Amino acid sequence: MTANVERAIRALPFSLPDITEAEIEAVVEVLRSGWLTTGPKVQEFQRAFAEYVGASHAVALNSATAALHLALDAIGLGPADEVIVPTYTFAASAEVIRYFGARPVLVDIRAEDLNLDVGAVERAVGPRTRAVMGVDLAGQPCDWHLLRPLADRYGFALVDDAAHALPSSLQGRAIGRWADLTAFSFYATKPLTTGEGGMLVTDNESWARRAQSMSLHGVSHDAWKRYSAEGSWYYEITAPGFKYNMTDIAAALGLVQLRRLSEMTARRASIADRYTAALGSLAELEVPSAYPDRSTSWHLYIVRLRLDRLRCDRNQFIDALSREHVGTSVHFIPLHLHPYYRETYGYGPDDFPVAYREYQRVVSLPIYSRMTNADVDRVIEAITRIVAQNRL
Ligand SMILES: *Cc1c(COP(=O)(O)O)cnc(C)c1O
Repeated sequence: MTANVERAIRALPFSLPDITEAEIEAVVEVLRSGWLTTGPKVQEFQRAFAEYVGASHAVALNSATAALHLALDAIGLGPADEVIVPTYTFAASAEVIRYFGARPVLVDIRAEDLNLDVGAVERAVGPRTRAVMGVDLAGQPCDWHLLRPLADRYGFALVDDAAHALPSSLQGRAIGRWADLTAFSFYATKPLTTGEGGMLVTDNESWARRAQSMSLHGVSHDAWKRYSAEGSWYYEITAPGFKYNMTDIAAALGLVQLRRLSEMTARRASIADRYTAALGSLAELEVPSAYPDRSTSWHLYIVRLRLDRLRCDRNQFIDALSREHVGTSVHFIPLHLHPYYRETYGYGPDDFPVAYREYQRVVSLPIYSRMTNADVDRVIEAITRIVAQNRL
């Protein structure tokens, strides 16, 4: 065996989907059925998903980005409006606001959990604020119980970018039931995957109907019925919609993943516990804090470096882990540091000092249900070694 092959085998990826024979069989069954695109499996997945999170309506889509876009469409966002969104998030959260020509008003986060700072939200509210988009970072719910009274007082909508937060809960109430509209992601690295996919959930029937229609060219009724025996060929276009529908292939995958979700989540939680037990005692690191009033999906396990106690910076730390063939990532490069937001809105790094500072010391470790305890221990050993070599 050459050294290269040996290294390739020994590499521990940052993320791997957890696909069993059950998912493969479900997909093959759809392939054999003759119905590939939006049809009975999508209907079934929507029903099962709505029931799972306890929401009245679920609209299956081809991404969470589409779900966020349709959420803002449902509330009637316009070009003169503003949406408050944390800078510490993925591109999708803010770009969908720009789709309407509206302004994303970035706010800072709090250091404890990297989630949006409700005080900063309140300071950013103005007459043009139509919505606040919270992000449940890493799966940790943000302070929806504090955002709800603000939304009621100022009359804006709450949209949840819950791409990380399946399943998560705050005060015993599932994510999906806090905001007016919630978007989940089924991208390949997310806690439940359909390859690509997303779900929009809401209790508001007219918003759900609008999202359903806009997800398929703005036609006036469930398009799949057009082709089925009881449906008709007639349809009406009520708005210039989009092409965001989920396929039955993806929905079949999602239905099996949903049945396996509690088992997969339990495994991630046990990996998180193993990391915390081992890494929590290193003075050079900070591990994620636990909050008694919320549960997390453990989509990400983010450690933070105490840079004042180390002779390496975050990038060198990541390089050292990669020399040990351990995959890592960084969540996130704050939006205000990216050229588009920097140049369009004139932001500087210190406009959101907490996000900027935390970004420079975060490392996301591998955490996925297919990891073995030996894989986890290998990450722990590599980190312990790198910390020992770089301790000041
Ligand atoms: C992954 C992700 C999205 C986008 O999800 P897609 O399904 O890929 O569109 C949105 N927001 C956050 C915070 C994400 O991590």
